[in-house]
Amino acid sequence: MACYGNRYYQTPKGKAWHEQYYVKNRSKINKKRLGRNRKDEHLKYKEKRNKCNRDWSHDLKQEWANAYGGKCSCCGESILEFLTVEHTNHNGKEDRAARGFGPKLLATLRKEGWPKEGYDIFCMNCNWATRNKKVCPHRRISLDILTGEK
Ligand SMILES: [Zn+2]
Ligand SMILES: [Zn+2]
Repeated sequence: MACYGNRYYQTPKGKAWHEQYYVKNRSKINKKRLGRNRKDEHLKYKEKRNKCNRDWSHDLKQEWANAYGGKCSCCGESILEFLTVEHTNHNGKEDRAARGFGPKLLATLRKEGWPKEGYDIFCMNCNWATRNKKVCPHRRISLDILTGEK
């Protein structure tokens, strides 16, 4: 459908009309072309769109972090970019399927009033390290220290 309009220009009649139109309106067309920088327009649009998305998810994430204590429950990491949702019931797979993940999950949690049951806040490191119900090395280390002191 998008190409249909161009087909007219490929017929002799269409070509003739187009040429004539161009000759008649040359200055107008050139001015229009010069005034427009498609690449710039595109970049501006892209930037605006990215910024919009970024702000939305950033605000939401900040809100989520505040609701859950603002730092990793394991190591205390508080840089927002590192923080992630921890499924304390280790049902991450099912939960992601049911509620989504990333901003979508955060939006759902917000709707539900930030439920604490089954959710905690972990940094990427601790989240990664505790997959498959493993104990985070942070906790192992502190356990070692504790047992070493005894
Ligand atoms: Zn951590
Ligand atoms: Zn940890």
